[in-house]
Amino acid sequence: MAAHKILLGCIADDFTGATDLANNLVRSGMRVVQAIGVPDGPLDVDADAVVVALKSRTIAPADAIAQSLAALKWLQAQGAQQIYFKYCSTFDSTAQGNIGPVAEALMDALGTDFTIATPAFPDNGRTVFKGHLFVGDVLLSESGMQNHPLTPMTDANLVRVLQAQCRRKVGLIDHKAVAQGADAIRARIAALRADDVGLAVVDAVSNDDLLRLGPALGGLPLVTAGSGVAIGLPQNWGLQASSTASALPAPRGLQAVVSGSCSLATNRQVAAFIAGGRPALAIDPLRIAAGVDVVTEALAWAAPLIKRGPVLVYSTADSSTVKTIQGQLGVEEAGAMVERTIAAIARGLVGLGVRQLVVAGGETSGACVQALNITQMKIGPQIDPGVPWCHAQSDAAQDEGLHITLKSGNFGTDSFFTHAFTILQ
Ligand code: ADP
Repeated sequence: MAAHKILLGCIADDFTGATDLANNLVRSGMRVVQAIGVPDGPLDVDADAVVVALKSRTIAPADAIAQSLAALKWLQAQGAQQIYFKYCSTFDSTAQGNIGPVAEALMDALGTDFTIATPAFPDNGRTVFKGHLFVGDVLLSESGMQNHPLTPMTDANLVRVLQAQCRRKVGLIDHKAVAQGADAIRARIAALRADDVGLAVVDAVSNDDLLRLGPALGGLPLVTAGSGVAIGLPQNWGLQASSTASALPAPRGLQAVVSGSCSLATNRQVAAFIAGGRPALAIDPLRIAAGVDVVTEALAWAAPLIKRGPVLVYSTADSSTVKTIQGQLGVEEAGAMVERTIAAIARGLVGLGVRQLVVAGGETSGACVQALNITQMKIGPQIDPGVPWCHAQSDAAQDEGLHITLKSGNFGTDSFFTHAFTILQ
């Protein structure tokens, strides 16, 4: 089979982070496919970039390295000229990694002695100055991230944080160089290299900084960053922002929303959908636990309504309701049970003819993608910042393809559940 050659090969350490990166690349002119895990064979569509979505952020460093190297090998086989290792814009990691160990393993495999590291994403309030990461107006270490259950970030000095995870010397490309443009950044890189620095944190406080950084990264075998740096890279291949990059097949079929997210934004989106007079069905986790066939009930409810417009099936609840349910069922049990149910309903809705599906919730999205046997998604137009429509093949959609959007927790405006469908038309 003739493989399509890609330009940029990306490895993302989690699922919604992969979509975030893909969305930025599409907006800057690349045609992008997101793969769920490392694919078995060559890509079956034409794309400028592929983002391989892993779930390697908080697993053991050795596993994260092994998975990332497998992704690298596959991306190289597709012709990737540059590799982009994507992590969270809050630099989520522990003292053991996995940002440093994975970056260095990729450097070793690529035979390169230098790369950059910056989670800067000014559009999302993530800026880096003098090597320190700010989240909005405060330092990372005062942003709430210092209390994260898995990756507490207690130091905003990224040079120090990354150095603790790396064998190679870590340095800084400071804002003075970045503000002067690509030549000054190249000169700074040359000076750092001469000083045996292997990885350099890059200051960036605006999109202009990232657009100046882009050209200086042309030719580097490896870039490591949040999703922000992506806006400056497509120009290195002569690509400009255009609506063709985000073109998807014409929408078809029926419309539905499933939501297993209990985030504040999602609660508002559910309320807005109901207030708009649209049909919505709440799923009660206690009835699932009691053995009621909630999936069959939901599909019987949806079948007659769905022909007239989008329906919503949701387990979304406010935090006190969720706490009560978690107290009765256990946090993980409740989560897994609800995820399984929503995913089965999503699959059933596609079976009823839904070909435009909105999924709310990060974990919920993972469960739905799995239930629909989706392995690759072409990334389309942005609905709200960080959330694009995608197009995917699913055995549940009988070779017709399916439009799907995966909205993680706090993303999207209040009208997201209706507004999303208008973007596709
Ligand atoms: P978000 O992106 O908002 O964090 P996720 O889907 O990642 O959303 O996580 C929400 C978690 O809460 C999932 O595991 C989901 O199954 C679970 N959940 C959803 N609704 C309820 C509920 N009513 N009670 C308890 N847990 C719930």
